[in-house]
Amino acid sequence: MERCTHGLDTTWCYLCRVDESGAPHAAWGLEDPPEGWEFREEPMGEAQAKYLRFLCEEFGYSFEPDLAAGEADVLIESFLDEPMTERQAHTLELLAREAGQDVPAALTYAEARQRIRVLVTRRALRFSA
Ligand SMILES: [Zn+2]
Repeated sequence: MERCTHGLDTTWCYLCRVDESGAPHAAWGLEDPPEGWEFREEPMGEAQAKYLRFLCEEFGYSFEPDLAAGEADVLIESFLDEPMTERQAHTLELLAREAGQDVPAALTYAEARQRIRVLVTRRALRFSA
């Protein structure tokens, strides 16, 4: 097994995927559309487009670059409610095992992502302590 800089398997490391997306903040869900947003007619911004492309690749959909920002918001939200990906499941399993935690079986993409984010942050704290 080839290990990445995160100490995980390069073939499925979710952290590498987020890094490679070029939109790490958005990919971590730090720029998700707020609740109660209004439909935005303007074209997608660059960060949102990168984020949507990342999610399309995660789920094997083709990316359409000409969507309005509001259409992209809706698509992004719908992806986040999908079940977690295999890449996430592997990454979460390894990180949870390291932290001595149980791995919950059924999570949405957004839930898995948040759990991974928390585990990665704790792991960084532990390694730098
Ligand atoms: Zn990695």
